[in-house]
Amino acid sequence: MNFEYELHHLKGNTYYIDGPTNVGVYKLNDTDVALIDCATDKEGPIIETVLRRHKLKLKYIINTHCHQDHSGANLYLMKVTGCKVIASKIERAFFRDSKLDIGFLNGGYPLDEYDNRLMHIDDQKEIYSLEYMPQGLRSFKLPGHHYGMIGVRTSDGVYFVADALGSKELIDKQHILLMYDVKGYLESLDFLQTLKDKIIVPSHSSVGVNLDSLIEFNRNKMYEIMDVIKNILNEPKTQEEVLAEVISHYGLKISFNKYLLVGSTIRSYISYLSNEQILDKYFKDNKLYFLKKIANK
Ligand SMILES: [Zn+2]
Repeated sequence: MNFEYELHHLKGNTYYIDGPTNVGVYKLNDTDVALIDCATDKEGPIIETVLRRHKLKLKYIINTHCHQDHSGANLYLMKVTGCKVIASKIERAFFRDSKLDIGFLNGGYPLDEYDNRLMHIDDQKEIYSLEYMPQGLRSFKLPGHHYGMIGVRTSDGVYFVADALGSKELIDKQHILLMYDVKGYLESLDFLQTLKDKIIVPSHSSVGVNLDSLIEFNRNKMYEIMDVIKNILNEPKTQEEVLAEVISHYGLKISFNKYLLVGSTIRSYISYLSNEQILDKYFKDNKLYFLKKIANK
């Protein structure tokens, strides 16, 4: 996909800059803008140039969540423009220490091999709470992808939905996108489906109205992954064994980071299936085994 990094008008005061991560731009008045996410550290100067070319002054960045592709340019843009950065309570905590997110995914202190720069920035500067959200913008919870991820609605009724929707291309290629809360993700998809006739801006897919087919595609993939896990668990297995079989099933190329991200996501799926009473679990030889319940076979 070719990106122009151009400012596109959506509706009223709402614009976006296209790129690997779509960056929302909301005009607060004739000159001042707030960004919804800001792309990676490498893209910071590009975003700044686009704004300068349109004679726009950056006042705020609202980060939907801490991941590097959404917040990597924070430090650069803060430095050159003096803008304020705003994020949800939990995501603000993740900005405080570069090891926190990796430890969270790993479920314990991380290996040095896990690339902690991949996920987000280590930011010592003040990150403001959602109470500082400028007029005309409103946040809403979008559980699923990351612990405290939010979406942002502009006064023009445009919805920036961050990583609540994966693109078809990415899902076809990677199959398993990072997910913390499976139940929350399904609820977020249900919510997006209620936004009839609204402009929706996913971070990594095309902007559109009525993204029902993409929403359905995301939902179907989740149920497909659950079916894969349930089939594996016709026999009792540990989480580690399920993970290995899921990786083989989808032919994923293993690496330390893949192991970390897919591992965390598969554990989340197993928790969801267990919490929904679809899986049984028990300890044997000090190992935790999961097994599909007879009624579900
Ligand atoms: Zn993300």
